[in-house]
Amino acid sequence: GNTRTGTTGRGAKAGGSSRTNTGARASTTGKKGTGSGKSTKGDSANGDAEDGKTKRSQYEGPDPDLAAMLERDVLETTPGVRWDDVAGLTEAKRLLEEAVVLPLWMPEYFQGIRRPWKGILMFGPPGTGKTLLAKAVATECGTTFFNVSSATLASKWRGESERMVRCLFDLARAYAPSTIFIDEIDSLCNARGASGEHESSRRVKSELLVQVDGVNNTGTNEDGSRKIVMVLAATNFPWDIDEALRRRLEKRIYIPLPNFESRKELIRINLKTVEVAVDVDIDEVARRTEGYSGDDLTNVCRDASLNGMRRKIAGKTRDEIKNMSKDEISKDPVAMCDFEEALAKVQRSVSQADIEKHEKWFTEFGSA
Ligand code: ADP
Repeated sequence: GNTRTGTTGRGAKAGGSSRTNTGARASTTGKKGTGSGKSTKGDSANGDAEDGKTKRSQYEGPDPDLAAMLERDVLETTPGVRWDDVAGLTEAKRLLEEAVVLPLWMPEYFQGIRRPWKGILMFGPPGTGKTLLAKAVATECGTTFFNVSSATLASKWRGESERMVRCLFDLARAYAPSTIFIDEIDSLCNARGASGEHESSRRVKSELLVQVDGVNNTGTNEDGSRKIVMVLAATNFPWDIDEALRRRLEKRIYIPLPNFESRKELIRINLKTVEVAVDVDIDEVARRTEGYSGDDLTNVCRDASLNGMRRKIAGKTRDEIKNMSKDEISKDPVAMCDFEEALAKVQRSVSQADIEKHEKWFTEFGSA
C-alpha cells in the first residue's frame, strides 16, 4: 500500500490516563516507518542493531554504481518496527515467524523437505499493516532490510530494470542474512500504458522469477553458514498476480481488516504519545469503526489528537498563534468529543466488495 503515515510527535507526554498505557513497550513508541525507502532512525532501534550491518564493501559484483544507488534508496538498516507495534494479526505474525524468522535462526534445521519457502506473499486491503509486518520481520530477526516497490523496479532505470533486480539480489546476498520486501508486486504483472513499458516490465518479471528460484541456493558465509535471503512481497490486488509469479510466492498470508480487539489495540498504540482524557471510551471508538483499516484508524486518532490545538487557535490572529506557548497549545488532553468529530470526518476506505474479493482469493490460493 502506498498510504504511509508518519509518526505522531515524539516527546509528547505518555498517556495521561493509565488505561491508554497498556500494550507495546514504551521503548518502541513513535517508530512507524515512513515508507520513504530511507533508513528510519528510531533511536532505540539503532541500539538494537548489531555491528557490522553496514558492510558496504561486501558488494563485489559487476554493478557498483547500481549497487550504490540501491544501498542509498532501498536499504533500511534499522526499520525499527517491533511485533508489538503491529496490532492484532496474531496468526500472520505466527506464520511469518515460522516461515521467515525460524529459518534464519536455525538454517541447519530448515533443509531438504524443510527448506524455507521461496517467497512469501502478504495480501489484503490497503492500510492493514503489510509493510509494517515486513519491517517487524526484519527488525525481529535482525536482518538487513531491502524495501523496494515494484513500481521502482519497473520504471526507475528504464531498460536497466533486469540488471537492477539482479543487483538487488546480489546485494542482498552480500548483506545476508537479509529480507527483500517487494511492495505492490501486482504492478509487475499488469503493466498498462506504452508497449515499451510493458516489454521492460515483462523482462523484469522474468528476471525476478529466476532470482526467486535461486534464492535458496545462495552459497555460504565465511563461517560455513548458509547465506539466507528471504523474499517477502505485498499486494492489495492478489488476483492480478499471474500464475508463474504466484507459484514462486509459495506461502500466501491474508492480512485482513482489524477486528474489534485489534482495533482497540491499534487505538492504544496510536495514542501512546499523547495525553488522553478519562472520558475517552476506547471500546466505543472500536465498536464504531468496524470496517476501518489500520490506516483509517490511525487517521481517526491523528485527527482527534489535533483537535485540541484547532480549538485553541480558532479565532486567533496569526501573530497571536505564533506567540502562544507550547504548553498552552498542548494543554488539553484528547477527549471523547474529539473522537466524535474525527469519526464524523474520517470514513472507512475499504469497500465490502473489495473484502469479498480478498476472501474469495484466500479460499482459492491462500495459506492457512
Ligand atoms: P499496507 O502495507 O498494508 O498498505 P501499512 O503497513 O503501510 O499498510 O500501514 C499503513 C499505516 O497504517 C501504518 O503506518 C500504521 O500507522 C497503520 N496500521 C495499519 N495496520 C496496522 C496494524 N495492524 N498495527 C498498527 N498500525 C497499523
